Amino acid sequence: MSFRFACLNGRAQLVVGPNNNVVDLAEASGGKFSAEPIEAFRRWDEVRTFAATVTDPGTPIDVTTLDAPSPWPLQSFGIGLNYKSHAEESGMEPPKTPLTFAKFSSSIAGGYADVPVVGGAIDWEVELVVVIGSGGRNISKKDAWDHIAGVAVGQDISDRALQFAASPPHFDLGKSRKNYSPFGPWLVDAKGLANRDALHMTCTLNGEVVQDSLTDDLIFDVGDIVEYLSGIVQLLPGDVIFTGTPGGVGVSRKPPVFLKAGDVLVSTIDGIGTTTNHCIQG
Ligand code: ZN
Repeated sequence: MSFRFACLNGRAQLVVGPNNNVVDLAEASGGKFSAEPIEAFRRWDEVRTFAATVTDPGTPIDVTTLDAPSPWPLQSFGIGLNYKSHAEESGMEPPKTPLTFAKFSSSIAGGYADVPVVGGAIDWEVELVVVIGSGGRNISKKDAWDHIAGVAVGQDISDRALQFAASPPHFDLGKSRKNYSPFGPWLVDAKGLANRDALHMTCTLNGEVVQDSLTDDLIFDVGDIVEYLSGIVQLLPGDVIFTGTPGGVGVSRKPPVFLKAGDVLVSTIDGIGTTTNHCIQG
């Protein structure tokens, strides 16, 4: 059984029951665990064991107030052109290695964060987001999921004008404005997720479905990405990876469609969670 983990006012929480109540991890464990989310990722197996013993019905909360489940990752990565459907619509050759860029940590936000629309070329990208648990170097593909704490749904919001303002493009800045990396609302423990390599995700814009895909269309799956990245950098507890977006983004539409103030993006991964982002004037 997968447990759910969240962050509220900077403190680690377990999400319990059908009403999504929360139990404060540090308080419920009598101080065995720290309130710091990053400490939970370091000791994820112990947190899982503890979570299975919790019978507290928890405290009701407004899910829109949750922070990102890993609110201040030391490293945050995005993978570009990682779905066949998105590479095709972009008119690009599928990458030979995972096309990697940084989503700087100051862009991380909770799943219900407002998205400031800065300029006229802001785009949506629904993504499966993974958060690293124990981390490490040189993690093989077959062991990758053992080093992942859990998964969530997120948006790799992209300022296309900024992204392509330099040549070669600087993906990192174009995808790192304030609140351009919202994800959540909680993290679902990766262990015991039956269909973790074929999750169904959708994105709606003002109620209309604009993206709809299974994660089994990924060019480089989660195992490939973890093996590739950990062969170069040390993956650290709480690190965040945005794994790529399927076809249906705004820039590839004819004519292109971009976000404007008042728009509402709803992103869902079945069995994992739903986030909602209101677009506001930047
Ligand atoms: Zn993306």
